[in-house]
Amino acid sequence: MHENGSLSIHSENIFPIIKKWLYSDQDIFIRELVSNASDAIMKLKKLSDMGEANIPEDTEFEIKVLVDAEKKIIQVIDNGIGMTHDEVKQYINQIAFSGAEDFLEKYKDKTDQDQIIGHFGLGFYSAFMVADQVQIDTLSYQEGAAPVKWTCEGGTEYQMDAGSRKERGTTITLYVSEEGKSFLNEYTLRSTLQKYCSFMPVEVYFENANQPAPKEEDKTSEDIEEIIPKPINNPAPLYLKNPNECTEEEYKNFYREVFHDFEDPLFWIHLNMDYPFKMKGILYFPKLKNEFETMEGQIKLYCSQVFIADNIKEVIPEFLLLLKGVMDCPDFPLNVSRSFLQNDGYVTKISNYISKKVADKLKSLYRTEKEQYEKFWNDIHPFIKYGCLRDDKFYERMNPFVIYQTTKGDYVTLEEYLERNKEKHEKTVFYATHEQQQSQYINIFKENDLEAVLLTSNIDPPFISHVEMKESGISFKRVDSDLSDVLRIKEEGNEEEQKETNENIEKMFKDALEKENLKINVENLKSETVAAMILLSEQSRRMQDMSHMFGNLPMDMFPKEETLVINKRNPLVQRLLQLQDESNQADDVKMICEHLYDLALLSHKPLESDQMNRFIQRNQEILNRLVK
Ligand code: ADP
Repeated sequence: MHENGSLSIHSENIFPIIKKWLYSDQDIFIRELVSNASDAIMKLKKLSDMGEANIPEDTEFEIKVLVDAEKKIIQVIDNGIGMTHDEVKQYINQIAFSGAEDFLEKYKDKTDQDQIIGHFGLGFYSAFMVADQVQIDTLSYQEGAAPVKWTCEGGTEYQMDAGSRKERGTTITLYVSEEGKSFLNEYTLRSTLQKYCSFMPVEVYFENANQPAPKEEDKTSEDIEEIIPKPINNPAPLYLKNPNECTEEEYKNFYREVFHDFEDPLFWIHLNMDYPFKMKGILYFPKLKNEFETMEGQIKLYCSQVFIADNIKEVIPEFLLLLKGVMDCPDFPLNVSRSFLQNDGYVTKISNYISKKVADKLKSLYRTEKEQYEKFWNDIHPFIKYGCLRDDKFYERMNPFVIYQTTKGDYVTLEEYLERNKEKHEKTVFYATHEQQQSQYINIFKENDLEAVLLTSNIDPPFISHVEMKESGISFKRVDSDLSDVLRIKEEGNEEEQKETNENIEKMFKDALEKENLKINVENLKSETVAAMILLSEQSRRMQDMSHMFGNLPMDMFPKEETLVINKRNPLVQRLLQLQDESNQADDVKMICEHLYDLALLSHKPLESDQMNRFIQRNQEILNRLVK
């Protein structure tokens, strides 16, 4: 029985096209061949379960991947279902069956690599990306079947002969080409196998023919651990197990195994659903290592335990890509382009479902383990806030559970903050961005039994703008932007006189500071301790921050609108008023005014260098006068 033939496809040129289009993902030939082998075994198991195949009880199903760099071959060997002569003809020769024709139609004019996800049901032929010649040796499980040998050199011609395989199953032999030679390297091939086959349902063993495993009799008992060959994969990954049966330790081990992160995750969400689509997976919330670390997660997508890709943002809501996890969607339409994915209803549903699950888990954590939730908050808030910015539904679900640390030290939701402060200020949330830098303001707040929330992270400015946009009427004001009415005290006495004193103080500072544009407000603050402070309206500060962020915007685009507040009730200010009337004290008055201004500036933000120099000199001058 010898047969030559032509592959039934309608183009002479499929191989150059496969090579060209799949080039960037050359390593997927491993995925394709090993998953064919795994399918072949699963099919046989099924037939055996149904009583339609006669398989010995003690059969150990396994796949072996063998590399022989000297002979330049890679083999994928399975003991699965095998193929008869007719099946090889049907499944391998008529590759149009596997969608090749469709593929050519769809992709022949496309030049955008990104359009192609790298899986077209052309699986077997991807072998030609790395091989000049491919050989199949197969023996079907069917009784009386004859072994078949098939070879093809990458053109459209093939040969089929009687084969010599004695055991049921299939061996695919790749005669590795120049382009594929990197896969002859043991390390490269092994890590490619680990990448795609880590969770394949059948045990996969790797063997280097040039370095055969040591024989058992050559080993001492201490080496016994090493003798037993270990599969490169975990055929029963934890995510397939029922969540009720998984222990905390198992979740942590699985995390370590998959992500090689030695820091334990904070918590996790086990996804498990059958309807309206099938999906299983585990999402982990990693611990942030430091505040400035850009969060970079990794979500590995699998289709029936075969790795597809990392971080496919069309499937997984973008903000979830900050987490780490594995997700297996067996019904996932893989042989389509990315642009199709974006518009696919199924994909949108998966994405929405995942986002909802994550919000549900966070909610229940908030409700049942509030202490834990607060403890995790520092690590998870950037993720949650980013999610709120990116996904409206997530915002709606999560906003009630976004918590804020207050200057009192506890955590409150937005609603709780507004409720407990409503007598003092309505619909306004005061916040500080830097506890030390803004300590003067925070102290004034504390002294007056007011509270601010701490928003110290980079995600906070866009987040609060978003909340303001979503929740009508609510505004966020930094502690140094405005004086709440509760900080002021109503003045007794003659209004005319007060007005005069105020103008007097204002003029005194204006003359001393010689700053045309500086706004000066004289106030009667409850707290006597503060002499002067700087206020910068929330809006101008946000503008300034923005211009900083975008760099070289012209500075005068956002004029500085700082206000210097002078507290009339402060004893030093009172004393200044008296000094002002003493003719020989003009120098001192000027110096004290300048100094108070600098002190106010200093409690507001770091001084610029020439300001700092002047401040230090003046300090010395003051000390000099003290010792005189
Ligand atoms: P697909 O797997 O997407 O159908 P392939 O080109 O990878 O496309 O394979 C075509 C067919 O060849 C498979 O559907 C299967 O019937 C058969 N086949 C491939 N590899 C094996 C194998 N190792 N054992 C048995 N049958 C196989």
